Amino acid sequence: MMGDRGGITLAGLLPPLSPCILLAASANGRQDDHADPSRAGAPSFDMKALENRIAAFHKESLVPRILGNFLFIIIFIALPATLWTGTLAVHWRLLAALLACFWLSGVVTFPLAHRRLFPDEKSSRVKKTLLMSVSPLSAIRAADQLARDLLRGFHPIAVCSHLCSQDDFEYHARMASFDEVQKAEGRLPPPSPSRPKSRIRVEQYPITQFLDSLGCLERIRTPPIAEDGSSHSYCPRCHCQYRAGFQTCADCGGIGLLPLADC
Ligand SMILES: [Zn+2]
Repeated sequence: MMGDRGGITLAGLLPPLSPCILLAASANGRQDDHADPSRAGAPSFDMKALENRIAAFHKESLVPRILGNFLFIIIFIALPATLWTGTLAVHWRLLAALLACFWLSGVVTFPLAHRRLFPDEKSSRVKKTLLMSVSPLSAIRAADQLARDLLRGFHPIAVCSHLCSQDDFEYHARMASFDEVQKAEGRLPPPSPSRPKSRIRVEQYPITQFLDSLGCLERIRTPPIAEDGSSHSYCPRCHCQYRAGFQTCADCGGIGLLPLADC
């Protein structure tokens, strides 16, 4: 997941959207690992481990989420409301007491949750806790901070399969699988009459293998049906359809279009 939006999505505050899925880089930042599962540190497709990780997050982030919501209500709803109605002088002590209570609770509970989710990241935990101790706005985002690196080490397509809608998942999976095969083919020697082009084997490619294990590989690779009479060709990477006269996909960096079967 990408940036703040990914963390907020995982924290359950916003639904996942397609632009939030980062396909170009693995969670550990090494792009080449995608195509070579034999390399150390390759992103994981272990769905059971991913589900356990998300379940642990929901459990450990429950209190920080509740405290963050109360802080949000005090700062962004109750305080402006008293200012608007001119009753701040009457209620400021109550608001200040509630703010201090929830803020302090957030600062205390965050490192406990962080330690259970990220036991080896003490320096990050101290830095984030200090930031929350000086800013209630940072304390509001405690759950987001816990979600930020939660799925580091998992492949974005595996994360996408768990968090996104089926349509969004298949859209991203189709492009990732296409890129994976293209990248692998680029490393192979050019075919010759005595050495025909190497056949793509599912087990060679982690994304392809993962999609096959989910039972959606054939559906993802099946060419699309023409949307209407004007559709003439499609992009093999993203399956966008084009009218006659177009040669390459405008969204995929010049990928050559293929004719639709029923045209
Ligand atoms: Zn395309």
